[in-house]
Amino acid sequence: MSNPSSQAAPKIISIANQKGGVGKTTTTINLAAALAEAGKRVLVVDLDPQGNASTGLGIDSEDREFTTYDLLLEDIDLKSIILPTTTAGLHIIPATVDLSSADIDLISNEKRSFLLHDALRQTAMDEFELDYILIDCPPSLNLLTVNAMIASDSILVPLQSEFYALEGLSQLMWSIREVRQSGNKDLRIEGIVLTMYDQRNNLSLQVEQDARDNLGELVFKTRIPRNVRVSEAPSFAMPVLSYDTASKGAQAYRALAREVLENNEEKVA
Ligand code: ADP
Ligand code: MG
Repeated sequence: MSNPSSQAAPKIISIANQKGGVGKTTTTINLAAALAEAGKRVLVVDLDPQGNASTGLGIDSEDREFTTYDLLLEDIDLKSIILPTTTAGLHIIPATVDLSSADIDLISNEKRSFLLHDALRQTAMDEFELDYILIDCPPSLNLLTVNAMIASDSILVPLQSEFYALEGLSQLMWSIREVRQSGNKDLRIEGIVLTMYDQRNNLSLQVEQDARDNLGELVFKTRIPRNVRVSEAPSFAMPVLSYDTASKGAQAYRALAREVLENNEEKVA
C-alpha cells in the first residue's frame, strides 16, 4: 500500500441484511453520526435505490445530481459526488431510484463485482481523509450487495428483535462465505447488533438469547432499543444524535460506535 501521507486507509463497513425494515439505514445514519461525533471523518455510501439514508441525512432529492450510480458507472469528479451533511465530519454519496437499474447495467461490465471496491480505493479518495466508510445496503443479496461485500473490510448486521429474525441470517452468512472465496478472503463480520429491542417484550429477550447462544462474541454488547425519537429523526432530516442528543436511541448508537472503534482501532495501532 503506497500511502505517501501517514494516513491509514479508511475502514469500510457494510451494513447488510437482506430483510427489509430491520434497521440497516437507521444504523448506518446513526452509527456514522456517532463516529463523526467521536471525531472521525465518515462517509456514508447510500447503496439502496430507495435513498432513505440520503433523505435521513438531509439530502433533498433535487440536490442529488450525482449519486452512487455515477460512482459505480460514470467518471465524475468525487468532489461533485461526495456531499457534506449538517453533521460535522459526516459526508454522503446519495442514491436515487437510478440505482435500481445499476444491478442490470453492472452485469455486462467485466469488473461488475469490483466496481465499488475500485471506486472507493481511487487515489482521489485520499483527499477526503476518511477514517470510516459505511455502506447502507439494499434489502437483497443482489449484485449491489455483492459489490458492497467485496469492497468492505467487514459486515455489520442489524438483527431486528422479532420472530424469525435468525432465519435469514444463515443465507447472509452463506453469501459472506461465497464472497470470501470469490473476491475478498479477508472479509470479517464486524458484529451483529440487536435493533428495536424492547426489554419488556419476551420475544426480544428470546431473540437475544438465541443470538448470543448461536453467535456468541459476534453479537455486540450494545442493544439498540425501540425508541420513538429514533424513528422521528429522519423526518427532521437528521440523525437522532442531533435530533434528541440525550435520547436512549442516541446513547445506544454512541455505545455501538465505541464498540466498533474498539474493534478497529487496536488493529491500526
Ligand atoms: P432497513 O434499512 O433495514 O429497511 P430502517 O432503518 O429503514 O430499516 O428501519 C425500518 C423502520 O423501523 C423505520 O421506520 C425506522 O424509523 C424504524 N426503526 C428503526 N430502528 C428503530 C428504533 N431503534 N426505534 C424505533 N424505530 C426504529
Ligand atoms: Mg434501508
